[in-house]
Amino acid sequence: MPPVTKNFTISKSNEVFKEALKHIPGGVNSPVRAFGPVGGHPIFIQSGSGCRIRDIDGNEYIDYVCSWGPLILGHNEPYVARQIKAAVDKGTSFGAPTELEVQLAKLVKEFMPSIDKVRMVNSGTEATMSAIRLARGFTRRDLVIKFEGCYHGHVDGLLIKAGSGATTLGVPTSPGVPQGYIDSTIILPFNDSNAVENFCRERGKEVACIILEPVAGNMGVVPPKPGYLEKLREITRHYSIVLIFDEVMTGFRVSPGGAQELYGIKPDLTTLGKVIGGGLPVGAYGGRAEIMDRVAPVGPVYQAGTLSGNPVAMSAGIATLERLRDKNIYKQLEKKSQCLAEGFEKSARDAGVKTYHTRVGSMLCTFFTKDTVHDYKTATSSDTKRYARYFNGMLERGVYLAPSQFEAAFVSAAHNDSDIEATIEASCQAMKDLP
Ligand SMILES: *Cc1c(COP(=O)(O)O)cnc(C)c1O
Repeated sequence: MPPVTKNFTISKSNEVFKEALKHIPGGVNSPVRAFGPVGGHPIFIQSGSGCRIRDIDGNEYIDYVCSWGPLILGHNEPYVARQIKAAVDKGTSFGAPTELEVQLAKLVKEFMPSIDKVRMVNSGTEATMSAIRLARGFTRRDLVIKFEGCYHGHVDGLLIKAGSGATTLGVPTSPGVPQGYIDSTIILPFNDSNAVENFCRERGKEVACIILEPVAGNMGVVPPKPGYLEKLREITRHYSIVLIFDEVMTGFRVSPGGAQELYGIKPDLTTLGKVIGGGLPVGAYGGRAEIMDRVAPVGPVYQAGTLSGNPVAMSAGIATLERLRDKNIYKQLEKKSQCLAEGFEKSARDAGVKTYHTRVGSMLCTFFTKDTVHDYKTATSSDTKRYARYFNGMLERGVYLAPSQFEAAFVSAAHNDSDIEATIEASCQAMKDLP
């Protein structure tokens, strides 16, 4: 039985949203939260526990947004919460080093052997921005290759065909990004190694780095084609280009060591975020010592942060990674996610709704398209109006999916078999209700 929310209303949320609109642009502090792509107004959250969240009207939902990925252990996980509280009691920020930073750095390296040294920052955006500056400083080249539909945070030079919020809002490139940034960013289609090879044959020696989501997660979930990542590794090696895996979403998610472990590819630099902060604002970038030692104060590439390595945030990250050392968590995530993906697929098939389903580990997506999705063009062939109806049907049935077609659903360790079953049942009903 799906959790029935009797007399579903969100009148309190609507009221607060009206107030929020007067004080915050669009009423939200990050665009996709605004429900623009699915119509209606956002629900305001009161609290979360395990896989469930409760809104201020008292509705409860099984949550598949999980704070957009960080909460792989679920909301308010007891050990993580305890460690955060213990850290607060010792003081919230010093701007001087603490042992916690060393502890988290060592944990990150244990999960990702490609990382010799790692620098903590405060968000995924900061991580990718810093990694790109470093790659440019290291190679003394300017060009950056990124792929259509990959999102790397709101970094100026990367906000070009950037997927996610930008895609749903129909803002391919944000105003405010200087022409110079646009000129030094080369956009190529995802999953097409020939395009990269052809470009590099002409201008490979001008390219500082290739940055990509090894599993694209910001145009829906789009896995790499077999051999694609290998080919990128080969090309980057040939032209001495820094290969950056943006594992802000996939790190500690698709496997303990991220996509690089899952596919067996060693990037030069890795950017991290989301899970690494266990629900607090943390990002990180790391990789080969030879490159990382170009960062100030050992090297000339400047990067800094008043709150970087903040003890409360470090404690949340450490506690989360400590829990994730339990490999059983990933085994169970895989099993539950597979079950959910199959359930979603069956719910669509039974209702005669044309969909395409993708999944890598506990990241999954239902595209409302009859096409096979393998890049930005095929992802955006999806019927977003249909997704909007499905989203609202699920919301009313107590399941909180991302308010956009072009986002992943995240399964957490806190979702149990009956939550998955209830979700599938809700999906069967919501699919049948689609016109
Ligand atoms: C979320 C995300 C970012 C941006 O991280 P923020 O913490 O939101 O700045 C960058 N890259 C990828 C792949 C992401 O999923």
